[in-house]
Amino acid sequence: MLIGDGMATPQISAGLYWKSPEKSVWRQFSVTGFHKSHAHDERVTDSAAGATAFACGRKTTNGAVGVLPPDNHSCRTILEELDARGWATGMVVTCSATHATPAAFIAHQDIRAFTEAIAEDFLDTPLDCFVGGGRGFFDERPDQKNLIDSLKRRGYVIRNGTNFNHLPMDGSAPFMLFTADREPGTASAGRRYLPPATRQVSQYLKRRSPKGFFLLVEGSQIDWALHANDRNWLKAEMLDFDETVSAALQFAAADGETLVIVTGDHECGGLSLNPSEKKREFTPAFGSRLHSAALVPVFAYGPKAELFSGIYDNTAIYSKMWDALGYPAQLSK
Ligand code: MG
Ligand code: ZN
Repeated sequence: MLIGDGMATPQISAGLYWKSPEKSVWRQFSVTGFHKSHAHDERVTDSAAGATAFACGRKTTNGAVGVLPPDNHSCRTILEELDARGWATGMVVTCSATHATPAAFIAHQDIRAFTEAIAEDFLDTPLDCFVGGGRGFFDERPDQKNLIDSLKRRGYVIRNGTNFNHLPMDGSAPFMLFTADREPGTASAGRRYLPPATRQVSQYLKRRSPKGFFLLVEGSQIDWALHANDRNWLKAEMLDFDETVSAALQFAAADGETLVIVTGDHECGGLSLNPSEKKREFTPAFGSRLHSAALVPVFAYGPKAELFSGIYDNTAIYSKMWDALGYPAQLSK
């Protein structure tokens, strides 16, 4: 599953034209749908409630990660459930491990800002691999706990940087590759690891378990560029995400048994693509610095991709993933 945070139709349109429609990854999908991104009690979602809907199949309140109303009880995520069934699981993101989108698949906290508590939740699920930022939330903590040592005691290989050379890529051990102490740099400043990491981690996870794997990939900073109303940052992030989706599709095409789902969690920035004085160009303009309620496209490729056609709630993506696997959805109450 690949999530472009803040990515809906205008962002995808801009990305497609920036790349050139002939070369853009989006034309490779034959199945598309739309999801309604709203939160439990608000029309406009945040990333915490948005990702919890994908992870648990239930709507929750904005700010909540992996917990449900009315009392913020934990829900079991698809990542946790598949892990318990012996599947390999991984996350590759361009934010910190504790940021709302990855957190919603592995952590259970009332408030997304509880980053130290979210980091501790990583000790409860034996995630096979993580690539992204946020090492400091594990070993530079106000409570002085060293979660890196705890992870090492559980058998994790821990490395910093973006180089896969000294990692157990044969699938022999779990690992965390920290690309930054807090948030990773921007694509416009030269961050390039998301596409190659998606490729490498797919291969690693395939080796890690014969049963199958669940991989969450996030183009996390698409949303940050939109909040900042920064066109150049947005362009670099959309081109990076295009390459990332390409890497996933190449793996899936060669593998033949992998379902690839690509979507956003919500629109952000009220982006519009206005006429330009230059012929054949457009001028991106921002209507806000916030998220919006627009429908979000869903793209699917591979076995059972056809399940993702239509218009449905964001929570249906969770149930459709279970349908695709041939199991009843494991919905938490
Ligand atoms: Mg996010
Ligand atoms: Zn946002």
